[in-house]
Amino acid sequence: MKPIIAIVGRPNVGKSTLFNRLVGRRKAMVDDMPGVTRDRNYAEVNRFDVPFILVDTGGFEPETNDRLLQQMREQSRFAMDEADVILFVMDARSGLTPADHDVVQMLRRIDKPVFYIINKVDGDSQEAATGDFYSLGVDHVYTISAEHNRGVGDLMDEVVQAL
Ligand code: GDP
Ligand code: MG
Repeated sequence: MKPIIAIVGRPNVGKSTLFNRLVGRRKAMVDDMPGVTRDRNYAEVNRFDVPFILVDTGGFEPETNDRLLQQMREQSRFAMDEADVILFVMDARSGLTPADHDVVQMLRRIDKPVFYIINKVDGDSQEAATGDFYSLGVDHVYTISAEHNRGVGDLMDEVVQAL
């Protein structure tokens, strides 16, 4: 059984962009996994010859904060149960939100590697504006731009070592 890496986070932070970036042309959908729900996208990925299954946790666009939190808790619960490594994605452009904060407190209690990622850091000016996120109290936050392929290689070097 290949290790599972789950991408979780609020809608619109860039989870699917990161998923597609990592899957690239080597995308191979995994259809027959037990318990797969339709709003999750699975792919087999090889990174530096390390094989793993990448999961993009999709979901609906929630209308209310309650629904948003509910969805994020479901994603996180799934990731905690099924994944070997969790990529928690936040968004430099919208900044740190209460929902991010809430889920991070939940993820900090679990005994699995969790990578805290700030996406949409397309250039140095966004890099300078990420100070807020250090109030989360996590050891390290990785800044990336999934769209422009910035920082993704460095992140994945660390991620595959955690497998
Ligand atoms: P998801 O809902 O978390 O899966 O987010 P998506 O991957 O669908 O992306 C949401 C929006 O953010 C899209 O318009 C993307 O083009 C945009 N986006 C994703 N990654 C980046 C990035 O690194 N930089 C910028 N500027 N926009 C991004
Ligand atoms: Mg998506």
